[in-house]
Amino acid sequence: AKWARPGMNNPADPSSPTGDAEHPTVDSDVLAAAAARDTRTTAQRNHDAFSAMFRAVLESGILGRHRGLPATTIITMTLEQLEGAIGGVATTASGGLLPIGDALALAEQAHPVLVLFDHDGRPLHLGRRRRLASADQRLALIAADGGCTRPGCAVPASMCAVHHVTDWQKGGTTDIDGLTLACDACHARVDDSAAGWATRTAEGRYPGRTEWIPPPHVDPDRRPRINHRHHPGELIDHARRGMRAPREGGDAVP
Ligand SMILES: [Zn+2]
Repeated sequence: AKWARPGMNNPADPSSPTGDAEHPTVDSDVLAAAAARDTRTTAQRNHDAFSAMFRAVLESGILGRHRGLPATTIITMTLEQLEGAIGGVATTASGGLLPIGDALALAEQAHPVLVLFDHDGRPLHLGRRRRLASADQRLALIAADGGCTRPGCAVPASMCAVHHVTDWQKGGTTDIDGLTLACDACHARVDDSAAGWATRTAEGRYPGRTEWIPPPHVDPDRRPRINHRHHPGELIDHARRGMRAPREGGDAVP
């Protein structure tokens, strides 16, 4: 009720005080003037108070870190989406969808990170306003992989760890080219046993992506596969190609 008092925490009024209405730093004259301008319903004021409280928790830092990054909302959108401003959805690292307009509203208080890709979707450059040290590679992988890279796995990036495509003990590097996102359950399937999966960096149509090679009991031919679950554009492209050239459509999306 204190945070939702008329005049408090009103996002439509830049002069509206933020936080607790009874805090000593809140000027009573400023609050009275803001209350006189406040046309929000009680429900809207409660909503805005809740939103302000969540923001205060996020900014306080008490949420700590999660898998090497500060616990916060990570939203991915392309430059086309950014320039379009309205229409379409951005994706979050936990697999959620967010209207671009809402994502831009959040971006006012965000740390924007620019990841540049080559035509095959491989990260070329990471630009950021504030240096995040070792977290940089994780951000680039969230943008490049979107989630677990094992074929068919829908686990989002927030629940994945960074893994070496080639085992570090076998000479795998920690360069971005040698890293990929995988959930714990899928990563546990990678081993040298007869029932284990193998991973390697793809060439061909999706260069730079992580290919998963199934064990013989899953596929006797051990054909490498790529996960398209977090890249819906690839599935749409493939469906379009299939419609235009049904005879060439024989190479099913692996
Ligand atoms: Zn997985």
